[in-house]
Amino acid sequence: MKLVILDRDGVINKELKWVETPDEFEFIDGAIEAIANFKKAGYITAIATNQSHIDRGRFSVADLDAIHDKMLKELRSNGGDIDKIVYCPSFDNSDPRRKPNPGMLLELLAHFNVEPNDAVFIGDYERDMQAGYDAGCHLILVENKHGDGEYHNMPDYLKEKTTFVKSLLEASKVIEKWK
Ligand SMILES: [Mg+2]
Repeated sequence: MKLVILDRDGVINKELKWVETPDEFEFIDGAIEAIANFKKAGYITAIATNQSHIDRGRFSVADLDAIHDKMLKELRSNGGDIDKIVYCPSFDNSDPRRKPNPGMLLELLAHFNVEPNDAVFIGDYERDMQAGYDAGCHLILVENKHGDGEYHNMPDYLKEKTTFVKSLLEASKVIEKWK
């Protein structure tokens, strides 16, 4: 594995109805340690997140940057880092970058010149797994606030490719074993 791509809300931070200010960004237990583990293992780490509130006019790119500045500061002071963050501001489901479409993941694979087979996408919704599947990445689904509800939403072809875990910290341990 060379590249670990993370969904953000529900994987790194608690998924509230909205996360529009730095104060509303709250790490999930173990997520900081998990991202430090990725760094220690030498993986490139990236985030691919749908942020349609931008095009909906609920918050600005500057607001998103402020949230990410806070996140990165906390991660870096604990031995972790994120090498690149990509987001999709659109709420148009036909936008090739908006998950479940794979555009953002393909962009990251090309940017880092990594083969899909050397990349894993970690998300918490079926739409994440679909995007990762279409990009050709390995797939890990973190159980989110809906418990294992996503498992039941997923078609068999996605379930077969997906490793199911309870947290990002557990995901980091699973990936270590794949080496
Ligand atoms: Mg999510």
